Amino acid sequence: MKLSLVVPCYNEAENVLPFQQAVISAFSDCGYDYEIIFVNDGSKDATLHNLKKLFRAQDCPVKVVSLSRNFGKESAIYAGLEQCDGEYISLIDADLQQRPEIVRDMVQILEENTDCDVVAAYQDRRGEGKILSFFKKSFYSIINKLSKVTLQPDASDFRTFRRSVRDSILDMGEYHRFSKGIFAWVGYETRFIPYTACPRNAGTTKWNFKKLFNYAIDGIIGFSTAPLRFSTYVGAVSAVAAVVYLIVVILQKLISGIDVPGYATIIVLILFFGSMQLFGIGIIGEYVGRTFEQSKDRPIYIAKEILTYLDQK
Ligand code: UDP
Ligand code: MG
Repeated sequence: MKLSLVVPCYNEAENVLPFQQAVISAFSDCGYDYEIIFVNDGSKDATLHNLKKLFRAQDCPVKVVSLSRNFGKESAIYAGLEQCDGEYISLIDADLQQRPEIVRDMVQILEENTDCDVVAAYQDRRGEGKILSFFKKSFYSIINKLSKVTLQPDASDFRTFRRSVRDSILDMGEYHRFSKGIFAWVGYETRFIPYTACPRNAGTTKWNFKKLFNYAIDGIIGFSTAPLRFSTYVGAVSAVAAVVYLIVVILQKLISGIDVPGYATIIVLILFFGSMQLFGIGIIGEYVGRTFEQSKDRPIYIAKEILTYLDQK
């Protein structure tokens, strides 16, 4: 098998068939074999029903992994990667925002450049609002400053890579998965190509600001311990400031005999140090929480049903 397309699907009932047709027409004369691995990520609509129809029809080789509930896109990708037989593996969304024709170009780049292991697409023009793009920009600049790995701003999960890269990704069994960081962490020679995301074929996006914000925190905590060090620094600086202030108070008392330091100063200091302590504990909590989750060693996903073409009647 030359190419495996891994497609996470959450409530994509109206998209899976058009997606498959788009793949078939994009690869009709490619001259190599390919398979589509649909991962049903606990959809609540008719996605699984439609995927089973596709599986039975086998207009092209299709596998279906159906998870026992919604585990999130990252876990769905992991489940799909485990089922890949291809020499090249491609991650692509089910909503046709990312055109299968681009995957063909990606495969060609890998074929022609043996030193290149990953071809990743980034959006050249983003159709999102100014506020969101401001937050995204800030996120990339923060994470790239804090973390040892470098993330390419705007690079999406839409990428095609060699099997060795897939094996390395599967070796990273962390529970809180942040694939942009995982890709950067495993390394390999990566080439970035621009693409323009098309409008969604049907349905709505599964992301909102809160989810994106939490995802960003996952990324920073997952790939950097700098926030822990930050709270140490803040603690050290405020300790020095406290000592300086102590000396000032003592000198005031000795020189001018003023011993009424002022209500406002005390309240401000209490509030400031109290909030700094809470902030520090919060940061530690984020790491302890993730250590706790990881130490439970729960599986990244649970597959309720796996349909591979060997099962086909
Ligand atoms: N997805 C998923 N599980 C989730 C959320 C999303 O498998 O919990 C899939 C979704 O079906 C789609 C892809 O991830 O194929 C990207 O999602 P979406 O289109 O909502 O994201 P956007 O393109 O808006 O960033
Ligand atoms: Mg989308």
